[in-house]
Amino acid sequence: DSIANQIAAGEVVQRPASVVKELLENSIDAGARNITLIVREGGKSLIQVIDDGIGMSETDARLCFERHATSKIRTADDLFNIRTMGFRGEALASIAAVAEVELKTRRTIDEVGTEVNISASELVSQQPIACQAGTQISIKNLFFNVPARRKFLKSDSVELKHIISEFQRVSLAYPEVAFTLNHNGNDLYKLPPSGLKQRIVGLFGKNINQHLIDISTQTSIVKLGGYIGKPECAKKSAGEQFFFVNGRFMKNPFLHKAIMNAYDRLLPSGAYPSYFIYFDIDPQSIDVNIHPTKTEIKFEDERMIWQILHAAVRESLGKFSVTPSI
Ligand code: ADP
Ligand code: MG
Repeated sequence: DSIANQIAAGEVVQRPASVVKELLENSIDAGARNITLIVREGGKSLIQVIDDGIGMSETDARLCFERHATSKIRTADDLFNIRTMGFRGEALASIAAVAEVELKTRRTIDEVGTEVNISASELVSQQPIACQAGTQISIKNLFFNVPARRKFLKSDSVELKHIISEFQRVSLAYPEVAFTLNHNGNDLYKLPPSGLKQRIVGLFGKNINQHLIDISTQTSIVKLGGYIGKPECAKKSAGEQFFFVNGRFMKNPFLHKAIMNAYDRLLPSGAYPSYFIYFDIDPQSIDVNIHPTKTEIKFEDERMIWQILHAAVRESLGKFSVTPSI
């Protein structure tokens, strides 16, 4: 019912960027190779995602807006083996409770697609349509029916910053997927499918290229790879620090300290090194189920991971010889 959906929406949908995160993750889960994100007015009037993923059947196009409708978890065991970004089946229901949604979707095996329109959890219309294979979903006028929340949104430019940061996280997690971000008619990013280094350059500019040092290590419990920034390129402001676990962005202050500690005196005071660190780990030994927005991930043995990461950073910094200034 719509009250329950609105309450759930409060947890999942804080601002336009939360919608962006959920939609991009759904496109990734759908196996998309090309994802276009179009936003207007910081996402307040429009957030649209177009993908070339598997699409949905006529039935699923309606059911996906029901709470706990997920095609991704079938048994309790699956919960301990999560390989998809989504698994709660509440994002679309939550978003549809607080916006106007237009969905157009088609599977390649279907001749016609389906269009569904929902407004504040109410089905407005559903009809067959001709559309490209994949899914296009538009979220219009977020919080139009919850004026108190609409009022708390920040300026378009602040909301856009949050959107860009979600876009960066997902596009860094999947460099092999093409991503475009368009705001108010201007392409802000057009990222071709690539390797990780090229993706980082596509997002942060050519200059970052010569500042990156490889990092990689493998133990019986975890595989770690990615790049860290040269110490002298550390910045006074945080912003290019990224951890990913099994393709999912993660915030982790504890592991951040492992990195800071490993750079130690190599860093100018008050500076943060850039890092793009990717962990590959048995899904059974992590817990992503602790928060609906899922940016916190619990490792079974966090201290061990701390040490592995710390050692790997030390090793990479050691290989890269610092010329002492006399
Ligand atoms: P979850 O991702 O946790 O399963 P969502 O509410 O985000 O829940 O999505 C509900 C369901 O809708 C998904 O499980 C999936 O079956 C379907 N779905 C959503 N977005 C897409 C998409 N872009 N392409 C194909 N199917 C989708
Ligand atoms: Mg989802």
